[in-house]
Amino acid sequence: MPIYEYMCIVCNESFSLIQKVDCEKSETKCPKCGSGEVRKMMSAFCCSSGTGSSVSPSITSGGFSGGG
Ligand SMILES: [Zn+2]
Repeated sequence: MPIYEYMCIVCNESFSLIQKVDCEKSETKCPKCGSGEVRKMMSAFCCSSGTGSSVSPSITSGGFSGGG
């Protein structure tokens, strides 16, 4: 299930909610103050700024001989 991160612009409370794909229109309210003025935040899983070591999987191609 996709988890969306929201941030309340009233009290600046960040919270994550699990929304279904089917449900596109849903009222997201802040669990802290109950205000509907929330902003959807993008998940920062990738593309992280800063100094970091990126690990890339190396693909090794082995000799695969096909015979009939
Ligand atoms: Zn709030």
